[in-house]
Amino acid sequence: MTKIIGLTGGIGSGKTTIANYLHSLGLQIYIADEEARKLMQTPEILTYIKNTFGATVFVNGKLAREKLAKIVFNEPKQLKKLNSIIHPAVKTHFKEWLSQNTAAEFIFYEAAILFESGNYKNCDYIITVTAPIETRIARVIARDKTDREEVLRRINAQWTDEERIAKSDFAIENCDLKIAKDQIDEILKILRIKQKHR
Ligand code: ATP
Repeated sequence: MTKIIGLTGGIGSGKTTIANYLHSLGLQIYIADEEARKLMQTPEILTYIKNTFGATVFVNGKLAREKLAKIVFNEPKQLKKLNSIIHPAVKTHFKEWLSQNTAAEFIFYEAAILFESGNYKNCDYIITVTAPIETRIARVIARDKTDREEVLRRINAQWTDEERIAKSDFAIENCDLKIAKDQIDEILKILRIKQKHR
């Protein structure tokens, strides 16, 4: 039976970079954050967003994600509201996607807020990607052209590395990418042995 491996880590830890490596090995990945972004463009969710956060988060009729992000990352209550519609939508979409990928040995489920959303409960194993806070901040500032304060706000809206690691089966440190890839290779070996001897 297909095993679901959660792949998580804080903002800027390098989850997507690791997911790309897994993809290059021919493994199947469901990128929950990307699917959530797509689902946010569905009429039902757009209407909810307009009714909940107001027309100011729309520019020329299109959802302005940065405006919405500013609101939700500054107010935990607002983030909770947004998540209350996004999380169930992603959950349903993943179930459908999974039903079409049942032949895979492993499915990697990449999500920044795997624990916060409660979706970790559907995973057989969980890998947390870590990196020192200052490294993460520098990466996100360079990638998103944002500022330190904004990155810190996002980091503070997520679980800490310690909290994630405590609930994970594996943790890797993604500083030197080559070393991180070697750690992933080792985890894959362990997962395959576990599959073989179930
Ligand atoms: P988010 O939660 O914001 O989606 P993420 O955890 O998926 O972030 P990535 O997008 O993979 O992180 O990486 C953040 C940035 O850091 C990217 O620009 C990526 O190219 C870079 N990066 C990732 N891993 C490394 C590494 N080992 N060495 C140098 N740069 C890296």
